[in-house]
Amino acid sequence: MYQAPLPAIYTELSDEALAERIHAAKAKLGKRLVILGHHYQRDEIIAFADYRGDSYKLAKDAGSHPEAEFIVFCGVHFMAESADILTETDQKVILPNLAAGCSMADMANLFQVRSCWKQLGEVLGDDLKGVIPVTYINSAANLKGFVGEHSGTVCTSTNAPGAVEWALEQGSKVLFFPDQHLGRNTAVKLGFDAERDTLVWDPFKPLGGNTVERLREAKFILWKGHCSVHKRFTVEQIEKARKEFPGINILVHPECPLEVVQASDFAGSTEYIINKVAGAEPGSAWAVGTEINLVNRLAKEFPDRTVFCLDPEICPCSTMYRIHPSFLCWVLERLVEGEVVNHIEVPPETAKWAKVALKRMLDIGATVRD
Ligand code: SF4
Repeated sequence: MYQAPLPAIYTELSDEALAERIHAAKAKLGKRLVILGHHYQRDEIIAFADYRGDSYKLAKDAGSHPEAEFIVFCGVHFMAESADILTETDQKVILPNLAAGCSMADMANLFQVRSCWKQLGEVLGDDLKGVIPVTYINSAANLKGFVGEHSGTVCTSTNAPGAVEWALEQGSKVLFFPDQHLGRNTAVKLGFDAERDTLVWDPFKPLGGNTVERLREAKFILWKGHCSVHKRFTVEQIEKARKEFPGINILVHPECPLEVVQASDFAGSTEYIINKVAGAEPGSAWAVGTEINLVNRLAKEFPDRTVFCLDPEICPCSTMYRIHPSFLCWVLERLVEGEVVNHIEVPPETAKWAKVALKRMLDIGATVRD
């Protein structure tokens, strides 16, 4: 989405002045305001978050503050959309920078998913009824609407195993989008074979680049999408960390490729990663395969443990990073003045089915498994 340039004053303020003005605006807005901060946000933003969490936790947090008039979501676009869907109609969800999207979410759109569904119908005939669509929460609201309308669910990295098990109780196949890695890792975690039971659907090829036979046989149709941050982690990095730090624990996110997850000691969602390091013995060492702002924060919060990022190159999520304190300051000061800027509103016809899918996700709940 297009973000208009900030008024010049906000780009000229020092870090200290911005922090002071954000504090002042927050104090004036009081209980009318809740600020949610995703774990991948920079520290200067997390410092102002009333609640921090991963997308699953923040989706729940967003829906549990009906008293707040304004929910400022320091995260990316799809998260603010989910918050809008899960909150009351008189609550306003605000994304400080409209350019904060998610490159993975952009890898699947409604036109492509509808085309995939139509092609699957041509191949599977009546058996299409047994295909349950599951979208990762990192997707546009209209894709959540699609899965809601087609008896599917949303999942997060926290509850993906539970969501996929639920889908397989409703039908015989899962169409999983947009992250092929989370889909594959979840299938393998549930005991399926990556080669035999999964295939990749390339939206730019007829039949997704597959044969009719494979489409009929496979249990999981995985969309060809990925996270540009988590795709950077490699088995070579794990081998290097093990060599340099004998006894180190390797902890990665399931958006990483399967071979990386299999070479690690532990894999799980952002909340899982945090809990694992928080519950670790002092003196233990952890090489973590996830976004750098979170890894650096863990290292700071647990100085008696060695915590570092598996990737020696800096790898922030560039879209999360677009929420700079200057944008937060601007939206809060506009609210103080009575003007709502960067309001995220999902059209009611999309929100209706997306809410069904998000509610299913929340009902399935979190399944945290080693
Ligand atoms: S870390 Fe990856 S999946 Fe998460 S918001 Fe950034 S690009 Fe999207």
